[in-house]
Amino acid sequence: MPRGNGARAASSVIAYIGLGSNLADPSAQVTQGILAIARLPETRIIAQSSFYRSAPMGPPDQPDYINAVTAIETAQTAYDLLASLQAVEARHGRARGLHWGPRTLDIDILLYGAERITGLDLTVPHPGLSERAFVLYPLYEIAPDLEIPGLGPLAGLLRRCEWRGIERLSGSAPITP
Ligand code: ATP
Ligand code: CA
Ligand code: CA
Repeated sequence: MPRGNGARAASSVIAYIGLGSNLADPSAQVTQGILAIARLPETRIIAQSSFYRSAPMGPPDQPDYINAVTAIETAQTAYDLLASLQAVEARHGRARGLHWGPRTLDIDILLYGAERITGLDLTVPHPGLSERAFVLYPLYEIAPDLEIPGLGPLAGLLRRCEWRGIERLSGSAPITP
């Protein structure tokens, strides 16, 4: 069948990626992370949330985070995508220290199409998604009608998650691919 305008290749999937940083100019880290994702093979960005400032989730004696969510269309498998994203994190000097401690760049796969994955190294939907305001609100900004596999409509999760400890940064213009 011919592919119409905007049609997807049969093997491609829409995935949602969460980014966060609280070190070394966090907004620039997240911006660079998004640009690196845009350059991944067989991948293009189809939507980009604003940037959000959020209070740290782990040890409290660390700076606030900048978070954003990016929607991509990708032909990479979920595990290839995880490896690609971890390579981007590593290039940003991500060092693995304290659990939920400060980091230059954290990139999580929130959703990978409608798939539910429970592997040793990969759980999708991301296990923290349902209770994290800094994930749910940016996700809702770019995909309000989303169904979360196993959890129901995103709008329902959002209603149960208080807008607390986060701030939408106006002027954080969405990055156009
Ligand atoms: P959290 O996962 O609670 O947000 P975190 O992002 O700080 O915590 P990391 O140290 O970045 O956790 O990642 C730990 C491991 O989580 C990674 O090595 C990766 O294999 C695994 N992982 C499992 N599911 C996912 C996912 N959906 N996206 C990214 N990493 C994942
Ligand atoms: Ca994370
Ligand atoms: Ca992570």
